[in-house]
Amino acid sequence: MLSMYYGPDLLRFDRQLLLIGREAQLKLRDARVAIVGVGGLGSNVAMQLAAMGVGHLVLMDFDEVELTNIHRQPLYDESDVKKPKAIAAAQKLVKINSKIEVIPVVGRFEQNAYRIENVNVIVDGLDSISARLLLNAFAVKFNIPYVFASVEGYYGNVSTILPRKTACLRCFMPTGRGDEKACAHGVYPPAVFMASAIEASETVSVIINGISPLAGKLLVFDASSYAFDVTDLKRNPSCPVCGDQGGPARGNKKHVPVAGSAHCKGPSFRPNRDCAEPAHQ
Ligand SMILES: [Zn+2]
Repeated sequence: MLSMYYGPDLLRFDRQLLLIGREAQLKLRDARVAIVGVGGLGSNVAMQLAAMGVGHLVLMDFDEVELTNIHRQPLYDESDVKKPKAIAAAQKLVKINSKIEVIPVVGRFEQNAYRIENVNVIVDGLDSISARLLLNAFAVKFNIPYVFASVEGYYGNVSTILPRKTACLRCFMPTGRGDEKACAHGVYPPAVFMASAIEASETVSVIINGISPLAGKLLVFDASSYAFDVTDLKRNPSCPVCGDQGGPARGNKKHVPVAGSAHCKGPSFRPNRDCAEPAHQ
């Protein structure tokens, strides 16, 4: 069955089939993944998932490729400048793997959310906290696993949210911290590649196993020193998004600052101190 679908291209997966097996490859083939934002994080995740054989990808982005993107977004080249990112990304991905379905959506998530109601996993490729919180609320509402990541400077975070099973983004990230784009402070390309590689691995794990190593946990890393730290996250029962009773959040005073937030940037950030406190103590 697998060989019928992939045909002679099955050979391309030989090295990963040795690790994950054919049944898992079949799950990747049948999976639908939405990547919301195909900038630094999203374009690199998309490239990895397409290459690994994830069968259906929805790419959503309202923005165009800029020359300043290319240093950390190698899916694009100089000829793509001024093209819509979703279109340019889709054109490249089908060259990497012509057997998959890639659906570009040029527009903002707020106006196009209905396009991804039926996906198996949502991947975060966004660059602002307010947009991420919207995406998180959508993922919880439609019970879709959500792989979150953010990068600023040399620092990155990754977590996987399984709605109503693990802490959602709102459980550990408050609103009202300002919404400046993380890239405004500079971005170290290897930090983006590290975060996107971990996002891709989380996505594959959720598709194959229904769970992933970072479900309910927050990975914080510093790409300048290779320091990694993983913190357990607990659901806030009063979370206004995923809480059992709804209502205003309470009893969760120690939110976890993440890269891209006003409380976690620059050289003062260190895993396990400023930015890796447990959400509940
Ligand atoms: Zn929550």
